[in-house]
Amino acid sequence: MHRFTVDYNKDETNPRSRLHRGYFIHQAPRIMPLCRLLGHKAMVDGYDRQYGDRERVRWVVCDRCGVRPEPQGFLDADEWNLGQQYTGPMTDTTPPPPSTTLIKQLARKQLPMPRPKTPGPWPARPTGAFGAELVIGKSSTIGFGLKVGNAGSEHVLAAHIGLGPLGALFIHTERFGQGIQRRLNPTGYDSREVDLAFHHGKAWWTIWGRRDEHSTSDPKWMRGNININPAHYLLGPSSGETIQETETAPTTVRMPDGATYDVTVKLEKWQHGRPRGRKTTHWALNWSSTSGIPTRNHSWKGDNTLGGYGPFPDAYAGSPHWVELASAQIAADCMKDRARYGYRAPEAA
Ligand SMILES: [Zn+2]
Repeated sequence: MHRFTVDYNKDETNPRSRLHRGYFIHQAPRIMPLCRLLGHKAMVDGYDRQYGDRERVRWVVCDRCGVRPEPQGFLDADEWNLGQQYTGPMTDTTPPPPSTTLIKQLARKQLPMPRPKTPGPWPARPTGAFGAELVIGKSSTIGFGLKVGNAGSEHVLAAHIGLGPLGALFIHTERFGQGIQRRLNPTGYDSREVDLAFHHGKAWWTIWGRRDEHSTSDPKWMRGNININPAHYLLGPSSGETIQETETAPTTVRMPDGATYDVTVKLEKWQHGRPRGRKTTHWALNWSSTSGIPTRNHSWKGDNTLGGYGPFPDAYAGSPHWVELASAQIAADCMKDRARYGYRAPEAA
């Protein structure tokens, strides 16, 4: 058994949290009291792959603790069904692993590695591992969750709790908990999770949902969210809408190098709030240019800025000179972009 820690903040110049560390224990002995008392319970495990070439693989596993004999065996799929009790022979010795020379020879001839057909003895000292990740100070999650892995998962069980500004804790097991996994999620290659998270004023839940795949055939209760902001119920749902807008006006943007660009500008007045709550309004400038204003050199995103959308000062919106003020703001924004992207004007031909 050995343990070690990793400091994830070590190489960060500006760490988000006060502490961010990983703690690991490897090769920890597995206890398995029932199996030690009664012996392992041999069962046929494996998979039937449905996609592409049909592939059916069978091996032996202990149904109680999830330990596999060494080797695990390579049974005839026509003879052995998944989940059936294994009553076939098991050898007393584990054959030595293939030599490096043999592995190289097989790889050169593109031949598969030989797999012993008969399962071997149960491992004398099965081991597993634990891992934990602790964040003290700002973390990105609020909520908690549990994961039960599948037959192919490296992490058999995992759990996390996130307390937002206070921190977070993530833990997982390797090999430990395979008995639980075999009880709750024995077949298939989908891990399952139970999760409750809070963000954007809502509570989001997952109940025994597949971890990496959402399907339209999943029952409704499996995933969902509910608004938990009291204002949502007292004052109505939050929304935003345009309540006023100007005509689209043509104008010219003049950059410091003297070049001019034709653009069109339009102002929109937005109102945000809840039906029975206080409303706030702000103005926004919407502009576009068919030729675009050059702000970068040789970028895959394109070198010209073709338009933009952003806040516009309320005090300017009512001015008779709002068009000129808008074109000055566009020039200033494009200059800031040029500075940010290190723009160099192309040399005159
Ligand atoms: Zn066992």
